[in-house]
Amino acid sequence: MEVGIVGLGLIGGSLAIDLRSLGHRVVGVGRRVETCELAIARGMVDEASPDLASLAGADVVFLCTPLGVMEATVRELVPHLKDSAILTDVGSVKQPVVEAIAPLWRNFVGGHPMAGTAESGLEAALAGLFVNRPYVLTPVASTSAEAIAVVGDMVRSLQATLYQCQPAVHDRAVAWISHLPVMVSASLMKACLQESDPIVLELAQQLASSGFRDTSRVGGGNPELGVMMAKYNQTALLESLKVYRQVCDHVIGLIEQSRWHDLEAILQQTQQARPSYLRSETER
Ligand code: NAP
Repeated sequence: MEVGIVGLGLIGGSLAIDLRSLGHRVVGVGRRVETCELAIARGMVDEASPDLASLAGADVVFLCTPLGVMEATVRELVPHLKDSAILTDVGSVKQPVVEAIAPLWRNFVGGHPMAGTAESGLEAALAGLFVNRPYVLTPVASTSAEAIAVVGDMVRSLQATLYQCQPAVHDRAVAWISHLPVMVSASLMKACLQESDPIVLELAQQLASSGFRDTSRVGGGNPELGVMMAKYNQTALLESLKVYRQVCDHVIGLIEQSRWHDLEAILQQTQQARPSYLRSETER
């Protein structure tokens, strides 16, 4: 198949590497000429340019730009696509993307690979990024069965684990496990920076080890992506952040009142619950 990738960054570049190695002809569309030249030089794509008209022959197009430019990109892209072309995106938030794009192209199915690193850009693209990672498709009533089947088959060929759900359900679920952790982790770092004694601050930075590395990792990632999560998943993220604030207030109260048994009960509950959130990790 001829596969188009619009947006040659971490996710678009990683898809290009794997899809090309599976034997598809991959045509990339990047914003900057230098990115396109790098993708060609590294053998990630068969051809690449900033020209959306180069996707006229594509059977399937993956939209891998930042969330904020997806709708405008599709409006520019659709006059170039052949009627049978199937369009999918990789955006981290689904409801606003699906609402904007589904009316523009009949053969569109929303998607979200649950894979990434703290890096961004084409240089950060990796082979095998999606192996054993969840990949969610979010079809709606108007989505063509063929689009779901073709994109689903490509997702399975990446050795990702395929899930399907409604866009709004996806957005509420990822608010808990992806977008809330980014804000909590960033807030942790911001709180540590409030230490006013420079000697304590410097010692804390010298002593920080694996626990701090794990808990601060997602808050130290791509700022642009974090803002996009908050902007496009505002309602669900706020709901989860407010629950988190209630839990923090409750824990503060327990510690102020020296209610160690009650604190231990919470920590036992969280210790038991954690593995059920890490099932896809244990399958890696
Ligand atoms: P990225 O590494 O920053 O790559 C974004 C790409 O889009 C770059 O190639 C950039 O081109 C291009 N681009 C930027 N602004 C553009 C514009 N105005 N018009 C056209 N192209 C533009 O980002 P990413 O992490 O791959 O994220 C891409 C998408 O994947 C986002 O929608 C995000 O929600 C989703 N996603 C990300 C992750 C993750 O963990 N990072 C995981 C799952 C899904 P140049 O390099 O030429 O500037």
